[in-house]
Amino acid sequence: NAHAPSPTVRTICPYCGVGCGVLVTPDGAGGAAVAGDPGHPANAGRLCVKGAALGETLATGGRLLHPTIHGVRSTWNRALDAVADGFRRTLETHGPEAVALYLSGQLLTEDYYVANKLMKGFLGSANVDTNSRLCMASSVAGHRRAFGSDTVPGCYEDLDEADLIVLVGSNAAWCHPVLFQRMEKARGRGARLVVVDPRRTVTAEGADLHLALAPGTDSVLFARLLVEIVERGALDRDFVARHTAGLDEALAAARAIAPDAASAAARCGLEGEALVAFLDWWIGTPRVVTCFSQGVNQSAQGTDKVNAILNAHLATGRIGRPGCGPFSLTGQPNAMGGREVGGLANQLAAHMGFSPEEVERVGRFWQAPRMARHEGRKAVAMFEAVERGEIRALWILSTNPAVSLPRADAMRAALKRLDFLAVSDISAHADGILDAATVVLPAAAWGEKDGTVTNSERRISRQRPFRPPPGEARPDWWQLAEVARRLGHGEAFAYAGPAAVFREHAALSAFENEGRRAFDIGGLAELTDEAYDRLEPVQWPLRRGEAEGRRRLFAEGGFTHADGRARFVAIAVPALAAMPSPDYPLLLNTGRVRDHWHTMTRTGLSPRLARHRGAPFLEVHPADAARFGLVDGGFAAVRSPHGEVQLKVVVTEGQRPGSLFAPIHWTDATAGRARVGALVHAITDPVSGQPDSKAVPVAVRPC
Ligand code: SF4
Repeated sequence: NAHAPSPTVRTICPYCGVGCGVLVTPDGAGGAAVAGDPGHPANAGRLCVKGAALGETLATGGRLLHPTIHGVRSTWNRALDAVADGFRRTLETHGPEAVALYLSGQLLTEDYYVANKLMKGFLGSANVDTNSRLCMASSVAGHRRAFGSDTVPGCYEDLDEADLIVLVGSNAAWCHPVLFQRMEKARGRGARLVVVDPRRTVTAEGADLHLALAPGTDSVLFARLLVEIVERGALDRDFVARHTAGLDEALAAARAIAPDAASAAARCGLEGEALVAFLDWWIGTPRVVTCFSQGVNQSAQGTDKVNAILNAHLATGRIGRPGCGPFSLTGQPNAMGGREVGGLANQLAAHMGFSPEEVERVGRFWQAPRMARHEGRKAVAMFEAVERGEIRALWILSTNPAVSLPRADAMRAALKRLDFLAVSDISAHADGILDAATVVLPAAAWGEKDGTVTNSERRISRQRPFRPPPGEARPDWWQLAEVARRLGHGEAFAYAGPAAVFREHAALSAFENEGRRAFDIGGLAELTDEAYDRLEPVQWPLRRGEAEGRRRLFAEGGFTHADGRARFVAIAVPALAAMPSPDYPLLLNTGRVRDHWHTMTRTGLSPRLARHRGAPFLEVHPADAARFGLVDGGFAAVRSPHGEVQLKVVVTEGQRPGSLFAPIHWTDATAGRARVGALVHAITDPVSGQPDSKAVPVAVRPC
């Protein structure tokens, strides 16, 4: 019936890690009405401006519509043959270490699972990494060191119940807006908000306390907090004795870093009273949630910063209980789901690693002929191997390393050195990767894809399609499975659809688990296709025989280390990875703006979203503007040893003297020379491999 109203589809916003439920009602003419889903626990009907504008991003004019080989339109059959050939030839000539997949937190869990299985089980290499390395890797590593598994202990309801919310390195008002609304609601009933951030962001402006600390000193603050917890008698002795190990070493390291409050305040560049207020509030408020995000993660000491925060929560037993706990705010919509299937080069699958026992177990489950036996290369190292000619065949899905990786200009050049590059993307304007590709494959986008994502509170939700892909675009999991089939592995990749992939993923999570691994969704391993389609948002773990997932973990211990205990971590002396110098006297901090997402392939389609911040910019403190001859509204050339960009100057007191801020969204295609990734150094955290993109030494001049 042509006049029947289009059914409303329940799906998930494709942007940030809050993972809001969205109701989409197609209008039958290519557009759709979009509203928040009142039934989704993450947002209860609320949407931020990006989510609310999703209906304005459905135009297909800029989409890739057909496969191409060397820029010439091809068929799917020939293009997939070419990908299989490119990988086969490289494997035969150079071995498994010479091939790689580079994935994205925008992929669905099912896409991620198939990619990971193909590479780690059937091609014999663990060179599978993802742009989540730029986003979450330090939190993953911090969780694993402390808890034995990559587990966020709490849930969003903890924000509703907290009396103190601390945001560290997070501009949640812009980057996690619906969660920030929840925090504001908590403040309405009396909860306090503390923001720890060198910048006076919109989030910081309204806070009860803003600690505008010097870049790189977060762990000095939390080291002092650990010492004060002990000295003020706030240690939860029972929890520490029963459920943890390593306090003495961690405390000794913290004492060496922050022996007294005055020296800690001086080191952080804070007023003593502000530091003491923070310590008083944190220690004196049992229901405290400490949220942390990219300001913590994107650092050469990101893992230590995460562990410094986790140490304070472990010391007070404030973990896994209502209204308290450490809380990693995920950047991307499915960074968490990717971690669950092993989308990082240092994880295998279902939270398993590369011990001989785990390799054997996963190999048996997959019936895999060629298991990777050791970790692969993490994102920055992967592309350095491309530069050196060690990786020779690469498939990039749903991300653009020529914009977002450190040393983006060098990355762009490195891609041209590959023997073979395949790119799966939605955008015909993906800057710097399409022209280097041998094969370009048109991917299905949000609204067309079908699968699951996991948000920051471990909640798995269905992303459902509401329209067919344009042209010949196809889902990523299907592309990967078709290449696997062409490489002789058809049986292991004969999935009828995403539900079949999900069932296998769930079964692997429960395989020989017996409570050893935190990630277990065995309770979802036998979903019928219909039940998968109807699946309500659910938190993991959800073991076989359980009716509901777990909202909180670890209040009674049960950590995933072999002895069941959490670990305090003795953190290293905080230091910047690269100091300002006479040649590069300022520190550049990079980040997001409220109304754009990544390289704007979707948000750039909405004029409404462009109104908030329509062009790239550089925030500069008035003292630095005067020192370097910059004027508000003029232009500045920003230079590092790796590249140069030109940005419009915004002079603001909100910027810390000596520091600059520039957003990450604009590319050469959208704004001339504004790819700030070109400036960022390739210094990474030694544990997590996450690049440091918050404190990059640069020089500025008017232009
Ligand atoms: Fe989408 Fe995040 Fe906004 Fe929710 S808060 S609507 S998930 S961008």
